[in-house]
Amino acid sequence: MSTGNSDVEIDEESDDDGYYDYYNNCEDTEMEPTDPQNADPEYFEFTCLSKEDVERLFNECVESLCASLPVKPSLAKLLLHTHNWKTSEIIINYKEDASKLLIISGIKPAKSSDIDSQALRSIKSLPCSICLLSYSGEYFRSLVCGHYFCKDCWTTHFEIQINQGITTAMECLGCNLLVPEDFVLSILNKSFLREKYQQFSFSDYVKSHPKLRFCPGTNCNFIIFAKEFQSKRVICKYCKTSFCFKCGSDYHAPTDCETIKKWLTKCADDSETANYISAHTKDCPKCSICIEKNGGCNHMQCYSCKFDFCWMCLGDWNSHGSEYYECSRYKENPNIANESVHAQAREALKKYLFYFERWENHARSLRLEEETHQKIIDRINEKVMASQGTWIDWQYLRNAAALLAKCRYTLQYTYPYAYYMESGPRKELFEYQQAQLEAEIENLSWKVERAETTDRGDLENQMDVAEKRRTTLLKDFLSL
Ligand SMILES: [Zn+2]
Ligand SMILES: [Zn+2]
Ligand SMILES: [Zn+2]
Ligand SMILES: [Zn+2]
Ligand SMILES: [Zn+2]
Ligand SMILES: [Zn+2]
Repeated sequence: MSTGNSDVEIDEESDDDGYYDYYNNCEDTEMEPTDPQNADPEYFEFTCLSKEDVERLFNECVESLCASLPVKPSLAKLLLHTHNWKTSEIIINYKEDASKLLIISGIKPAKSSDIDSQALRSIKSLPCSICLLSYSGEYFRSLVCGHYFCKDCWTTHFEIQINQGITTAMECLGCNLLVPEDFVLSILNKSFLREKYQQFSFSDYVKSHPKLRFCPGTNCNFIIFAKEFQSKRVICKYCKTSFCFKCGSDYHAPTDCETIKKWLTKCADDSETANYISAHTKDCPKCSICIEKNGGCNHMQCYSCKFDFCWMCLGDWNSHGSEYYECSRYKENPNIANESVHAQAREALKKYLFYFERWENHARSLRLEEETHQKIIDRINEKVMASQGTWIDWQYLRNAAALLAKCRYTLQYTYPYAYYMESGPRKELFEYQQAQLEAEIENLSWKVERAETTDRGDLENQMDVAEKRRTTLLKDFLSL
């Protein structure tokens, strides 16, 4: 046991009692007993919207802004887009200084134009300042800035921009004024370009809206709407993709969006270094026979000498079960600051590999457990066919496999969190809870793999304990 542990205020003797007290305390101090967020740290309210639903939502925003301010709909949409759809903020700024707001939003020119557009339209022949060809005044168009160009030059400009994916950020040919939707659509007549323009700008509008996020599922066109911009898990109702609402990548609790991004970039950069540890076989630490890991569980039993050991650290499994184990914890060299640059680099690599190996290993276990899940389904099928109970009787086994996956997923994402965490009492507490969760997950995994001989009550009890460990860790460390 490390000496630093005294910093952690956990009574290890009565761990279970303390653990349940923690829960009861939570419920006792709850102000609103019905607040689901308190009961489930991962609770998040969201809805799945279609493109049409979202277009309706945008139109409602435009209408409501137009009802409050004297602006036309296409400009209201530009304003909303440039101000992340914050209607009330726009109204306040407009009332304070309308001109300033419109100028900084790229809607009004800083210097008003002195060109008389009526007079210009009646001119018989006029050269375009870009293509130098002469047309009648009718063939020229300009925004409020008064930069007149022929329709062909505008069309070419729009085509080039749209083909580069630029739509809502499209500017006037003569200045930085933004081009509103109705202006583009009044000039652009090729239908495929009009469609492309509308599609790209719709996507820009969604991306600028803090309550909306595209489902990242392949070929899925649905959009998630959530009132709060938090890094919580959302699951698309249509394609079942699960992801983080805030950053759109794979759900990553308890790690926050920035940290997981940093971690994944690091893993991609260091993939060469890390590759060698993705071994599927290791030697038994007792009899040295080669052992292949083909299940998700990290509690291994040598088929030859029957030694129980840990796949990760190759230590005796007996030291992993009940007591606080050190397998998930990286012990940093306390004197590293005084060591040579080379020694520090080696230490940094050692530390990274320690966390990476555990991260990788849980990811692999998850995949292997998916196979176990399939085997369980097959076995249940056999049993049901042989009249040994019904599907409902065996449902608990499937539930156990599903819960195991959920717990292992969270456990996997505790490693990047721990890697970047600063040493101190909070890290100690985190690693303590991580170790507890890890131990219960391996117990659950062991029991699920031997599901036929494990009795139902025992398995359900283990499920309960593992899930409580998981939610405790999330309640204490989930950053939104
Ligand atoms: Zn021209
Ligand atoms: Zn202009
Ligand atoms: Zn989807
Ligand atoms: Zn995120
Ligand atoms: Zn052995
Ligand atoms: Zn171990």
